[in-house]
Amino acid sequence: SGNPFGVNKTLNFLYSGEGISSYLAKIKVKAGGEFDYYLFIELFPKLFSKAKGYPELLLDKKNVISQINTNQYSYAKYRNGKLVDNLGKFNYSVELGNQYKFDGDGFCTTTFGKAYHVIYQSDKFTTIILSSPQKTMFNYITTFSYFFIISSLLILLVGYFLKISPFNWQLAMTDFSTKIQIFIIVSIFLSFILFGWATTYYIKKQNAEKNNALLAEKVQSVLIELEDKLGDRNKLEPKMYDELTYYLIKFSNVFYTDINLYSKEGRLLASSRPEVFDRGMTGTQMDAEAFNAIHSLKKTHFTQNERIGSLNYLSTYVPFRNDRNEILAYMNLPYFAKQDELDNELSSFYTALVNVYGLLFLITAIIAVFFANYISEPVRLIKDKISALQLGKSYDLLEWQSNDEIGALVIEYNKKVMELEKSAQLLVQSERESAWREMAKQVAHEIKNPLTPMKLSIQQLQRLANDNTEDLAERIDRTSKTLIEQIDTLTKIANEFSNFAKMPKANEQVVDLIPLLETAIDLYKEEGVAFQLRDNSRGDTTIVADKDQVSRVFTNLIKNAIQAIPEDRDGKIEITVGVNDSGVLLQVQDNGMGIPDDKKDKIFVPNFTTKSTGMGLGLAMVKNIVEQANGKIWFETKEQEGTTFFIQFERRAGSAPEISD
Ligand code: ADP
Repeated sequence: SGNPFGVNKTLNFLYSGEGISSYLAKIKVKAGGEFDYYLFIELFPKLFSKAKGYPELLLDKKNVISQINTNQYSYAKYRNGKLVDNLGKFNYSVELGNQYKFDGDGFCTTTFGKAYHVIYQSDKFTTIILSSPQKTMFNYITTFSYFFIISSLLILLVGYFLKISPFNWQLAMTDFSTKIQIFIIVSIFLSFILFGWATTYYIKKQNAEKNNALLAEKVQSVLIELEDKLGDRNKLEPKMYDELTYYLIKFSNVFYTDINLYSKEGRLLASSRPEVFDRGMTGTQMDAEAFNAIHSLKKTHFTQNERIGSLNYLSTYVPFRNDRNEILAYMNLPYFAKQDELDNELSSFYTALVNVYGLLFLITAIIAVFFANYISEPVRLIKDKISALQLGKSYDLLEWQSNDEIGALVIEYNKKVMELEKSAQLLVQSERESAWREMAKQVAHEIKNPLTPMKLSIQQLQRLANDNTEDLAERIDRTSKTLIEQIDTLTKIANEFSNFAKMPKANEQVVDLIPLLETAIDLYKEEGVAFQLRDNSRGDTTIVADKDQVSRVFTNLIKNAIQAIPEDRDGKIEITVGVNDSGVLLQVQDNGMGIPDDKKDKIFVPNFTTKSTGMGLGLAMVKNIVEQANGKIWFETKEQEGTTFFIQFERRAGSAPEISD
């Protein structure tokens, strides 16, 4: 191709199967005469081995196609169906089958051996395969892990700055369960950091130890070879440069390392890679510290980190002795640790770590949510129970199976609730006792009141009998009448009192209010009052209560209503039964005097009465009965116009708490 020499068509492109192409030029230098003379020039591209270290320094980086990442890709080159070159982890067959279908451009894509392959037929003889490992389940999980971590971080950040409660720790910390969650997740995160750091440290340390051991081994091997070849010399001098260089290059190829030899004065004698020194990349003088250690301090070996440009490497110096144990020179081996191998190892470790911890984070986050709820649930339960606790009403005990701290708390709580219940009962009892005492005093007073006039009347009769008064019979008759009246009052008081005393034991059953009301109305029919009973319920007017007690409630309300109506008024009592959401609502409305403001809050108090014959126990008893049946009683009143009493009965509201006395 072409003819750069302008003589003949003499420049030829040589194709070699191994991938190294060259040019051969043939130039006629002298024509004519007996012979033609030709000069042959073969031009090879300058090749450096793929080794690390000094060669890297010598490469012109701009022109080097960046090396393929053998972690990701492998390639193979076949010539005439036979494998000639391959690189990477994939295990290629030495012979290329012919089952591939190439398209017009000579490409074929396929999958085998857990890898994707692109096969390219570059010419009749040559086929190239580029392969990359197939994605496994693990890769997908990996992607998920990264996605999870990145999105969590984003949510956390956004949540923090927008001050959304679970993501802003200052706000979230007020919540017990969130606190637990945060602590669990933070500890996982800390363990992630700690574990990552410790393992990185360990991997690096191991790597350094491995490198030191390898270097020591190499130094030993090179030294033995060198002693074998040069052990009989008395002196090594600069004039032996060629010979020394020859040996060093030879050993360098065998042991796959560069070797430098320095004189006892610390000057470079020879090197397996003289270009480095020729180009002035590093000086020909031995490193000062190394020289000091080896030469002055007479150490058997000295190792340190050195650098040329951006290239870091480990460098070992040892003395070289001849057979008579005389030190002839100092040998130096630079060791280019495979930094990218370490980097690869570390990065795959980090990948695995992030994956494992990503999943761990997710699992722990889920567990933390459940665990925190599990922990705070009883606390919430106890809180609910405490707020539901009502003196005199509900004393619910808590149940907790396990014998842990919460269990102890629950036991303690239950103990206190039972104590509370007991003291509440005692309180009710003592209240009732003092009420009874009050009442007894009142009753005694009521009984004593008529006794004195009765005694006086009888004494007067006695006196009259002694004086033999003429109208004795008439007097006796009159006094007896008064006495009988007084005795009737006493009987009434005694009856009312005993009614009140009988009350507490309720005998609960389902009772229909309508027939009970009808009976109560019947009792007062003759009192000259117009009754009206209205049933607005359209159905169920039953409640659960003690029948006799409910009757007593009705007769009391009706009696009070009648008594409230002034003589000069046409009495009208309207009784209405209705049904609402919570049960049966009863209204007893009269057109009586009404209740004055200053009496309103006293009418349910035992002993309170505005009547000369009254005991003031009626409404107290009514209220007691209604409340025992889980009901409520209240009234509305307007002076001079009338009063309406309301009773709300809870429909079949379970059994009322039993009050023992
Ligand atoms: P008593 O009927 O023995 O006085 P109660 O406890 O039944 O005792 O009533 C207490 C007081 O409430 C009565 O004395 C009366 O002043 C007032 N009262 C009760 N019901 C009515 C009513 N329907 N209208 C006006 N006042 C009433």
